[in-house]
Amino acid sequence: MSTYINGILQSIKQSNGDGVFLQAATEVLQSLEPILKAEKKYQNHNVLERLVIPEKTSIFRVVYTGDDGKAKAHFGYRVQFNSALGPYKGGLRFHPSVNLDVLKFLGFEQIFKNSLTGLMMGGGKGGSNFDPKGKSDAEIMRFCQAFMLELSKIIGANTDVPAGDIGVGGREIGYMFGAYKKITNLFNGTLTGKNISWGGSLVRPEATGYGCVYFAYEMLKKAKQSLEGKTCAVSGSGNVAIYTIEKLQELGAKAVTISDSSGFVYDKNGIDLELLKEIKEVKRGRVSDYAKLRKGSVYTEVKKYTKGTNGVWSIPCDGAFPSATQNELNLNDIKTLYNNGCRFVAEGANMPSTLEAINFMLDKKDFLFAPAKAANAGGVATSGLEMQQNAAMTQWSFKEVDEKLHRIMKDIFYNTYETAKEFKYTGNLVVGSNIAGFKKVADAMIDQGYI
Ligand code: GLU
Repeated sequence: MSTYINGILQSIKQSNGDGVFLQAATEVLQSLEPILKAEKKYQNHNVLERLVIPEKTSIFRVVYTGDDGKAKAHFGYRVQFNSALGPYKGGLRFHPSVNLDVLKFLGFEQIFKNSLTGLMMGGGKGGSNFDPKGKSDAEIMRFCQAFMLELSKIIGANTDVPAGDIGVGGREIGYMFGAYKKITNLFNGTLTGKNISWGGSLVRPEATGYGCVYFAYEMLKKAKQSLEGKTCAVSGSGNVAIYTIEKLQELGAKAVTISDSSGFVYDKNGIDLELLKEIKEVKRGRVSDYAKLRKGSVYTEVKKYTKGTNGVWSIPCDGAFPSATQNELNLNDIKTLYNNGCRFVAEGANMPSTLEAINFMLDKKDFLFAPAKAANAGGVATSGLEMQQNAAMTQWSFKEVDEKLHRIMKDIFYNTYETAKEFKYTGNLVVGSNIAGFKKVADAMIDQGYI
């Protein structure tokens, strides 16, 4: 690692500690070395020093009344990281693990991911340590309204456009949209992930999962392989996992696992998608409920996901789609997967693989790795398509949006593949995606002056 990059990482460590933001920055900055060497302008303009500091960070208190009649207090955040390419864009995460470090990592990743989509979107992320799990609809509504009371002051259709992430789906976006409209007197595209009947885009709920599989399809095709007949392990059981499984099945692959924070299910006959949707989308249940109703499937409780014991990765497969959360696939996991015959990973979640696991995959000549910021860009890309439809006050058909999504994912694959090749890292899509995403943002920052 060059002393220049090391210096910047040290400054992050000093100001932010040794957390996931440092991990994300290390992955990105290390892989920028070839372009920094080739083009001196980035260092001359101190682009990296500027890039690692969010343009604006807001932290606020969110107080609402719980079902027990008592006041509940949580942290609310919005990290407006970079607006060189467009309004800040990125999801809101409601989960007890949310803190500023987590949102800085997610916001930082979002800058490059959004750049790769080719659409006009800057990068941002927000959320709260509020836990929606097990809460009543009424309590969730009151929290969303209280959260929007503050968030509404800093967002806008041409300023910052939040969307969903873990713990924030169509229901939460609906409550937040209602509150935003009431507070601002505006009906516009300030939030994406809206319901289709009042300004949402078709394919948005499916987009991250579908997009990840489209990316894997293109990556395998380039290597003269296909998804057909492949057995795949999928982690998670939220939006990303469900629609990853749906698209895998459509393309002739068999997804055999799902998971949540309590455990995982192995269904050797292939996941029953209708049952999964019923449990997760209608009943808001757990994967253990799936196993109770599905003959032949086995549920394993994982008391604690300690290092190397994320059970879902112990299932033999041809390819893995980590679609749950950050750092869910570590070096032990990838070794187990590899020894069991797994030969590709496509990341649906944000930064699901640790740095050690990534290096293991990149070192193997017979392994294909699709990194998150490229492979899971389909969600935010379709949010960008939702913004386009809102701005034009129009609505496109499912087929139209799906075709645009596939086109975008194919373009991202070839852009990252060709960029890696140009810098003599053929096949290394980590280098390819980071350099391609960075170049566009960095050039825009230089064009727009020191601001
Ligand atoms: N949360 C998603 C992501 O990580 C989507 C963000 C969006 O649609 O703005 O990219």
